[in-house]
Amino acid sequence: MDRYCVFGNPIGHSKSPLIHRLFAEQTGQALTYEARLAPLDDFVGDARAFFAEGLGGNVTVPFKEEAFRLTDELTGRARRAGAVNTLKKLEDGRLLGDNTDGAGLTRDLQDNAGFSLAGKRILVLGAGGAVRGVLEPFLAQHPASLVVANRTLCKAEKLVLEFTELGPLKAVGFDWIDAPVDLIVNGTSASLGGELPPIAPSLIQPGHTVCYDMMYGREPTAFNRWAAEQGAAQCLDGLGMLVEQAAEAFALWRGVRPDTAPVLAELRRQLMA
Ligand code: NDP
Repeated sequence: MDRYCVFGNPIGHSKSPLIHRLFAEQTGQALTYEARLAPLDDFVGDARAFFAEGLGGNVTVPFKEEAFRLTDELTGRARRAGAVNTLKKLEDGRLLGDNTDGAGLTRDLQDNAGFSLAGKRILVLGAGGAVRGVLEPFLAQHPASLVVANRTLCKAEKLVLEFTELGPLKAVGFDWIDAPVDLIVNGTSASLGGELPPIAPSLIQPGHTVCYDMMYGREPTAFNRWAAEQGAAQCLDGLGMLVEQAAEAFALWRGVRPDTAPVLAELRRQLMA
C-alpha cells in the first residue's frame, strides 16, 4: 500500500488521517495515512526515515519551516510562504515541498461560501505562518485592497514588504480605522486562548461584511461570536480551510481531486456530536 502521513508534535488531535481516509475511499485510491508524532529535536531524521518508503506527507505545527528547509524542490507558493505543509516524493527520490493552506482558504471562501475575492476590500488579522501562506493566493484573485493588521506592527510591515509587488497591500496596527471592509479573516492565534484582536467594530458593515476565523471548534470562536454581535453577514470557521488544503495535497499526490463537500459535512457532524 502507498504510505502517507502527517508529521506534527503534538499530533493526537489531527483530523488529517480521517480526512484522507475519506478522500481515499471516495476516489478508490489504495493508500494508508498515519498520524506521526515526530520528535521535536529530530523532525528531519524522522521525515527521512518515513520517506525511505513513504510517498507523501502533510506537515503541521511546529515543523512547517523545518520542512521548508528539508525539501529539494519547492513550488512557487511554498517558496513565497516560507513554509511547507505538503511533501511529495518525486520519482527520482527527491522531495518536493508545497504549501496548500492559502489555496485551501481561497477555495473554501470562493467555492464553499460563494464569496468572490475579486474587487473586494479585505482585512487580514495576524502576520504569522498562516497569514504568510494566504497573501499570494488572495492577491492572485485581484482584491481592491488587502490590509494586514497585526498586534506587533513591524511584523506586518516586514511581511507586506515581501509581497508588495503582487498587489495593493498595506500593513497597519489593530487601531486602524477606515470605512467598513467586505471581508475580515482572523489569522491570529488569539482564538486559541479565547481572546479577541481589538479591532474597530465599525470595520464591519452589518448585513454585508463576511468574517472568517481560521480556527474552528465545537463552539463559535471568540472572534466569530464578536463578529456576529456586530451584525456580520456570515461568520465562517476554518474547518473548510482544513479540508480544502487537504484536498489540494491529495490532488498533488494522487492526481485526482476529491469532492470535499461530503467530507466537510462528515467532519462537521463529528465535531458537533
Ligand atoms: P503563528 O504563531 O505563526 O502566528 C500567530 C499570530 O497571531 C501572530 O500574528 C500573533 O501576533 C498573533 N497573536 C497571537 N496571540 C494574539 C492575541 N492574543 N491577540 C492578537 N494577536 C495575537 O500562528 P499561525 O499563523 O500558524 O496560526 C494562526 C491561526 O491559524 C491559528 O489559530 C491556527 O490554528 C490557524 N490555522 C488554521 C488552519 C486551518 O486549516 N484551518 C491552517 C493554519 C493555521 P504577534 O506577531 O504580535 O505575536
